[in-house]
Amino acid sequence: MTETILVINTGSSSVKASLFAADDSLTLIARKHIDRIGSTPQETHENALRSILDWSKEQNGSLSAVAHRVVHGGDLFSDPVAVTPSVLEKLRSFCPLVPLHQPNNLLAIEIFNKLMPELLQIACFDTAFHAGHTPLFTAYALPKSLADKGIRRYGFHGLSYEWVSYVLRRDDPELAEGRVIVAHLGNGASLCALLKGKSIDSTLGMTALDGLPMGTRCGNLDPGALIYMIRDLEISPDEVERLLHYDSGLKGLSGITNDVRILLESDDPRAAFAIEYFCLKTAQFIGKMAVSLGGVDGIVFTGGIGENSAPVRDAILSRVKFLGSFKTRIIPADEERIMAMHVMRYMSGNEECLKEA
Ligand code: ADP
Repeated sequence: MTETILVINTGSSSVKASLFAADDSLTLIARKHIDRIGSTPQETHENALRSILDWSKEQNGSLSAVAHRVVHGGDLFSDPVAVTPSVLEKLRSFCPLVPLHQPNNLLAIEIFNKLMPELLQIACFDTAFHAGHTPLFTAYALPKSLADKGIRRYGFHGLSYEWVSYVLRRDDPELAEGRVIVAHLGNGASLCALLKGKSIDSTLGMTALDGLPMGTRCGNLDPGALIYMIRDLEISPDEVERLLHYDSGLKGLSGITNDVRILLESDDPRAAFAIEYFCLKTAQFIGKMAVSLGGVDGIVFTGGIGENSAPVRDAILSRVKFLGSFKTRIIPADEERIMAMHVMRYMSGNEECLKEA
């Protein structure tokens, strides 16, 4: 019977699962996507994960391990880690930083613990690939006492960037050795500055809100605006949080949708404005990443928008032409495969840092 690896990405209302054969080529056996969790009392995370576990067993394989995408590893985890009760407890301490993501990621681990207590569970972090950022890139200009409380930049989408870095090394080793800006443009959006394949800077900060405007998230915002919203407009902190995560970005700007396909087809001027704004901000932040790298040899697009929308790519690139000659590439995102690769390395004993911090 084939040994298999299950890769799980748990969101607030969906679970995405990919099943790989635990062989050298990591053949993808099947994928499953369950959404609308929470829309009825029966559609719970537990039921979704139960049905994914049953589905994975039906694929005629024997499950060797499960990998979970976990958004925040803080400064404790710079590599994937096998989940133990003490790891889980440490990961819980990051819930307040990403309250809309981390609790669901951890809930999935807890449910698997309950359903299959003997199964090896590996947590793979969206922050880990950025763990080598130097203090110049992680600090906010705040009193040190606040930095000591963990208020610093981390960066996210690291599994996507790690995959891109891997593919670049494999397919274009010369470019991989240079200065590359990766634009992960999906519902979440950010940039990563890669120097010789390693992340040195990113547009996301302490939480998943900074940098580029996203599908429904605001991106970079004057922190004074937050104080004004809370103190003078008397919008509660919870409501501000909801607004910045779910009602802002392309959706907020257009007043229509966060779906770029619909915005590009619309003749509503607000749709055109939202797209132009997204392209301008992305180009401006590419300038910032170019400074971090001291120049640019290549720009790589990934994510649903980056991979599929030529008009958006062209609008961004036309604004950064002045940076000189650089290569452009499209690399389809595959966070699931890089996670499966981590599990394989762990199981073969080659993952160096899979120790508890
Ligand atoms: P997530 O961050 O949720 O994984 P994706 O990477 O799948 O999201 O990206 C979703 C975004 O990609 C949506 O805004 C969608 O409109 C956009 N998208 C997907 N296909 C196309 C396309 N052909 N043209 C333009 N945008 C597209």
